[in-house]
Amino acid sequence: MPITNPELLKIVEERVLKKQVCRKCGALNPPGAVKCRRCRSKGTLRPKKILKGGPKSK
Ligand SMILES: [Zn+2]
Repeated sequence: MPITNPELLKIVEERVLKKQVCRKCGALNPPGAVKCRRCRSKGTLRPKKILKGGPKSK
């Protein structure tokens, strides 16, 4: 079901962008997560950076 409410869509987009990525296994985790839900590692989560058309960087 597509989201038609623009305000809601904005919130959803923000939530998606604020997800955290595990440095160990690369799994996406919710913003408030402390440990990875896939590999259960603690302290490996970093916020997913928003790339604005720049070159790939590590
Ligand atoms: Zn992980």
